[in-house]
Amino acid sequence: MLIWTDPQMLNWDDEEREYLLAEESEHWLLDELPAGVHTRPEGGKDSQIILMLWEYMNEPVVPVFPVPLDERYPEIVLRGLARMLPGMRSYFTRLPRPTIDGGYYIKTRENRPLIGRLPLEGLFLIGALSGFGIMAACGAGELLVAHVLKKPLPAYASPSNWNVIKIQFINVCLINGESPGSFN
Ligand SMILES: Cc1cc2nc3c(=O)[nH]c(=O)nc-3n(C[C@H](O)[C@H](O)[C@H](O)COP(=O)(O)OP(=O)(O)OC[C@H]3O[C@@H](n4cnc5c(N)ncnc54)[C@H](O)[C@@H]3O)c2cc1C
Repeated sequence: MLIWTDPQMLNWDDEEREYLLAEESEHWLLDELPAGVHTRPEGGKDSQIILMLWEYMNEPVVPVFPVPLDERYPEIVLRGLARMLPGMRSYFTRLPRPTIDGGYYIKTRENRPLIGRLPLEGLFLIGALSGFGIMAACGAGELLVAHVLKKPLPAYASPSNWNVIKIQFINVCLINGESPGSFN
């Protein structure tokens, strides 16, 4: 996996820049975009496929399904990757036919997972695994088991326990103008 961890401005030529300037809805493509464009090979060792991802739309949203897919996503991600892999520029004028798929990163403001015991006896939570859930799955599962079996918790457990979950919940309620009700 190759990840570019700096924010960046995409490289547009004069003609493209003029076009984007003429379209108000496209102005954001001239702005600085967030860090995080990444790529990795996809499929077996002889595969010619790569996975390209970039969470440049990173404002909190209410998920809708099916996930609305942006037809421009492949080109935007390719241009973002070209910062790290200049050879990608050769595809700018002959974009390979992409398969576009996507989903939502479910995350907390701190981008820490929520793992732990809930106030209702027998109820546990493991979630908010953001864009790292596959990589963190084993560790997250192990931590949840420690909560379930009431084993001593590792030092890194506290940021994701109930008090944090509760604060998150209250924040979301307040943001949505809803009463969080009383719970402790
Ligand atoms: C496009 C994309 C690329 C990603 N790439 C990576 C990567 O390269 N590496 C990495 O580590 N992580 C990656 N992630 C993040 C990773 O996929 C998530 O963090 C992880 O899947 C979260 O696991 P989860 O079990 O919390 O939720 P999910 O994997 O979403 O699982 C939730 C499950 O609950 C089911 N469900 C929903 N509602 C109900 C219901 N009412 N009753 C019963 N079942 C229900 C759903 O069908 C689903 O199977 C990526 C995520 C996305 C969206």
